[in-house]
Amino acid sequence: MGRAHNFNAGPSALPLEVLRRAQAELIDYQGTGMSVMELSHRSETYEAIHRSAQDRLRRLLGVPDNYRVLFLQGGASLQFAMLPMNYLSRDAAAAYVLTGSWSEKAAQEARRFGRVQLDSQAKEDGYKTIPEMLDGEALAGASYVHITSNNTIYGTQWHAFPTTQIPLVADMSSDIMSHEVDVEQFHMIYAGAQKNLGPSGVTVVIVRDEWLQQANQDIPTMLQYGVHAKADSLYNTPPTFAIYLMDLVLEWIEEQGGLTAIASRNAEKSGLIYSVIDEYPDLFDGHAAKSARSHMNVTFRLPSDEQSKEFLAQAKALGFVGVKGHRSVGGCRVSLYNAVPVESAARFAEFMRDYARKSR
Ligand code: PMP
Repeated sequence: MGRAHNFNAGPSALPLEVLRRAQAELIDYQGTGMSVMELSHRSETYEAIHRSAQDRLRRLLGVPDNYRVLFLQGGASLQFAMLPMNYLSRDAAAAYVLTGSWSEKAAQEARRFGRVQLDSQAKEDGYKTIPEMLDGEALAGASYVHITSNNTIYGTQWHAFPTTQIPLVADMSSDIMSHEVDVEQFHMIYAGAQKNLGPSGVTVVIVRDEWLQQANQDIPTMLQYGVHAKADSLYNTPPTFAIYLMDLVLEWIEEQGGLTAIASRNAEKSGLIYSVIDEYPDLFDGHAAKSARSHMNVTFRLPSDEQSKEFLAQAKALGFVGVKGHRSVGGCRVSLYNAVPVESAARFAEFMRDYARKSR
């Protein structure tokens, strides 16, 4: 059976074992005579799936008891709006650390609800770096500070999170569950599922209880974090099948040995590609500064757009999928989320080396 070398940026590769399991259970889930898609979201069978996904997520990430885990819809993009709707007001300010296109979008959305103070250090570096320290001026008087833990488009990643007295919120859409995180550093973490957690359609929000109490309640019901927390993410019909697949993906992560094992595998995969970039710096121009390199998205350019195009055409012909850089920046991007096998990264590194030798 032909499985692609799938380097898509999201939606992206899922573990083959998970797909097989979902296939086996598709038509008759545990003797119910129906698919998970056909179960009532109020049934005991579905509730067990819902709880299992929450419990696994808590165990794997080490989520403390005073945090709630929510399953919402609308993608990370809805979180760009929900966060300021719940925690920003006209007469207040929020700080946004710009580290790439997604943080710019998050900041843009917050402007609709209050004042936004920008930390632009990384932007001034052409989004090649991650700030070593937060910009104090941007933080002054802010209700919260927002960061993007991994910058999917530019290929940079925070390797140590900033410490601050201000509530810290992170968009972890493209690196959640790829390594261990100290959840207590954050008041809120959110992430769309379609990179490391499962298919698109479900968004995970992890939020501190005491912060939930402070959220604005003068907004539409469906946009209040408190409403979803109170109803345990069953206020309305949740994306049941996406949550079921997420539970299977989380079980797979446990079987791999949890986040320590997953993180070292991810470092191995990205290391395979970065080492070719470092061997042939005149041919492969890595975008990220070394200290800010992402283990999830490796981005680079060839000396000319023509050569990038030729390289991409060869990669495609060899069966490597999704290597074209985001349309806003061009070049190449190899996304190496949890479910991408080491073998795929190794094969791609070999292809890069062959290409480099031939183009001497
Ligand atoms: N934040 C980051 C870091 C992302 O990579 C993406 C999607 N690639 C988004 C937000 C937007 O996510 P969604 O499409 O789920 O709204």
